[in-house]
Amino acid sequence: MRYPSMPNDNCVAHAPITLLPSPFPKRIYQECLDIQPIVNKLILNIANDLSFIENTFSDIVKTDEFTRSLLDINRVTLKEGLAQPIIACINRSDYMLDRFEACDNETLRARQVEVNTIASAMAPHSLNVSRMHSYLKSKYRINTNNKFSVQTPENGSLDLVVQGLVDAYDAYKKTNSYILFVTEERSYNFSDHALIELAIYRTRPDIPIIRGRFCDLNKLLRLGPNKELLIDEGRKEVSVVYFRYGYDPVNYNHEDAWKARLIMERSRAVKCPSINFHLSGAKKFQQVLNNKEQLERFLPSNEAEKLNKVLCKFWPVDEEDSKLGSVSYEDLVLKPQREGGGHNTFGADIKPFLRNLRNSQERSQYILMEMINSPCVRNCLLSYDKHAAQNQADITNERLVNELGIYGSILAEGGAFHTNKAAGYLVRSKRFGVKEGGVASGHAGISSLLLVEDNTDDLDSTIFN
Ligand code: ADP
Ligand code: MG
Repeated sequence: MRYPSMPNDNCVAHAPITLLPSPFPKRIYQECLDIQPIVNKLILNIANDLSFIENTFSDIVKTDEFTRSLLDINRVTLKEGLAQPIIACINRSDYMLDRFEACDNETLRARQVEVNTIASAMAPHSLNVSRMHSYLKSKYRINTNNKFSVQTPENGSLDLVVQGLVDAYDAYKKTNSYILFVTEERSYNFSDHALIELAIYRTRPDIPIIRGRFCDLNKLLRLGPNKELLIDEGRKEVSVVYFRYGYDPVNYNHEDAWKARLIMERSRAVKCPSINFHLSGAKKFQQVLNNKEQLERFLPSNEAEKLNKVLCKFWPVDEEDSKLGSVSYEDLVLKPQREGGGHNTFGADIKPFLRNLRNSQERSQYILMEMINSPCVRNCLLSYDKHAAQNQADITNERLVNELGIYGSILAEGGAFHTNKAAGYLVRSKRFGVKEGGVASGHAGISSLLLVEDNTDDLDSTIFN
């Protein structure tokens, strides 16, 4: 990866990783994996319910220009009639372990952090780190003296992403058309893109791939007579647009960014994700679909029940604090409708933050979420540190907190699935006490799973005893 602090683009370092795999309860991993097709169904059904999306955002769009612009594009494309009824989404649902008391015993459960419906990254790195850890585990006989039986699950993350893009390509039914990767101006996590490109080439050498920086696309793209998406002076037809960028308002700071997004959305190309899938990942939906009854609007009862089991509690911030009851801000996280890390406010910082927004319509952009109380596990975080020579931290005994992501892939036509897949995982580990997460944002490293038998609350002892 490149890091913003590096002097030029010729400098690279390894992505941040943990030295050892991360112990994680097997039953909770299995639960999160089983839920993924339900998460896929939920986001598909939200994406297709325009009036629900509009109602949910009705207050937010008064002050949130970014969400308003996405919604406007969604409206325009529906009004003129969708040139491409097939929609795709490669998503990742993220979870943290939560410690809670049950019958006087502390135990663990999964809590969903969020669902990422655009630019869900790290699938290839995650696979490579799982392979590296499997090797280290066998070489150093990690955990052979352990009382717990452990397993390393297969990590189908890269295959899922590749197959998702290939399925979208085949649905377009045009040989010699291109998959377009939409990228940032300066690509930090370039190898994540490159490994996907390479894996597509290995499975399907007939599929050509082209990369386009978002900032250049308005000049490069145009629509053909049947809304074909054309690039390279009309010489190449794009069948699939794979967004690895465009999820944050700052991505749209250059001239014509919104025009470029509009051309792509109006075109016949299959978008991964389409704008309505992008919108369906908004954090506001977590707050409004926060119990079984609300989930039943989009899911059958048994599926709503399964998903409801992993949901945190949420509150809106559109009024004064009265709805919080006995809950204190110290135990909450405040989130705006943003992606990509660095936007949240945690615990004690919430009150002063909201005080500044008193009587402001902007309050409605935020949601309050219960703070997840994750256990620590000892491991070593190996990351690029430009001050490494000065910082002699004891990395051999670090306490890390893990976040598990499960990948999902959808290809659909209207409300009907062509494919509804779940496979592969990402584990990100951050130092205990670090509030934000995310590898690209520099807070966490990539790890892998070491599944331990049920209710192993003392996860630490799995590797280190
Ligand atoms: P983003 O879209 O920026 O990734 P997230 O909702 O994933 O936003 O939050 C960023 C990070 O903040 C997460 O990776 C996690 O480490 C931490 N976080 C988010 N929600 C909670 C929560 N409810 N309790 C504890 N930590 C949280
Ligand atoms: Mg996140």
